Amino acid sequence: MPQLRQDLITGRWVAVATERARRPDSFSQAAKETVAARDVCPFCPGHEAMTPPEVLAYRAPGTAPNTPGWWVRVVPNLYAAFRLEPDGQDHQDGRFWQRDAIGACEVLISSPDHRATTPLLPRRQVEEIVQSYVDRYRQHAHNPALEHVLVLYNHGRPAGASLEHPHSQLYAVSLIPPSFLDELAGARRFHEAHTECVFCRTLEDERRAGARVIFENEAFVVFAPYAARTPFETWIMPRRHSASFGDLEVAKEKPAFAQALQLTLKGLYEGLNDPPFNYYIHSAPLKADVSNLYHWHLELIPKLSTAAGFELGTGIWINVVKPEESAAFLRERIQKEAAQLAGPPADASGASVPGERLRHSL
Ligand SMILES: [Zn+2]
Ligand SMILES: [Zn+2]
Ligand SMILES: [Zn+2]
Repeated sequence: MPQLRQDLITGRWVAVATERARRPDSFSQAAKETVAARDVCPFCPGHEAMTPPEVLAYRAPGTAPNTPGWWVRVVPNLYAAFRLEPDGQDHQDGRFWQRDAIGACEVLISSPDHRATTPLLPRRQVEEIVQSYVDRYRQHAHNPALEHVLVLYNHGRPAGASLEHPHSQLYAVSLIPPSFLDELAGARRFHEAHTECVFCRTLEDERRAGARVIFENEAFVVFAPYAARTPFETWIMPRRHSASFGDLEVAKEKPAFAQALQLTLKGLYEGLNDPPFNYYIHSAPLKADVSNLYHWHLELIPKLSTAAGFELGTGIWINVVKPEESAAFLRERIQKEAAQLAGPPADASGASVPGERLRHSL
């Protein structure tokens, strides 16, 4: 059973999961020969038996579970740092605390195509990926043993992707992660002082100023945060106040979110020549009643530099590019992408296509 250990001084939790040390490293070969990697890739169609049985798949009618025919497939992570067990135990070891790492780790395979890099996937497929996020999020949100669900994506080896085949991950855990406690505390302070959501206020301010806004459609705004930690740190935030990603409106917000995500990934891919990156979705803890003050969002951080001694020692990031400059660069890229994808206007009046509206107030 994987363990969580608590640091006596800071209260920080660390997941100790030694089974992950045995994780196969497919990457050293993958860089040289993707065909060989595909032969042994557990996420490729035909290799379904190499993973634990699927917990969700969108697949062609008439195809059996754990066989080819799927276009998105979700399986438990074979090398899970957290495990769903009926009874988690706390243990004390002298002054030290340890508890069983209760939770779920899942792999959400983006596409049956081993080489279909996520930034270049068609919009329809990105919508299906987002649907799988929503379906699995909602599934875990009902589990009373869990406190928090995080969906994330690692792109490229320097960003921690251990298998070449594109996939997202989901962690459903039995504690509220520390980075959240900081965000929640800040959101609560702001709400107490101003009786409004700090994220809604930020969105309004950013849209008015415009300098850090990269793209917006009818339901989402993509922008560089004022205090971006790294060059090209990018956030995607719903315009509707909503604390939980699980409440994403599938009819209206899902296509808009998929569009914002796809254009952002494509803009980075084209503009920076396929940089490694991480993104994760911050959503309200499952049990805390923070619906009036928290606001879910996606944070994307390209891996363009490595956190070194200063960052590790102080927690202060050094960003060598102004967020306004990286926003302007990405905005230009994404405008080009969106214009190409939109094609000519659908009718003679030249009315803009809904969802393709871009900011021109630069
Ligand atoms: Zn594969
Ligand atoms: Zn809000
Ligand atoms: Zn956040």
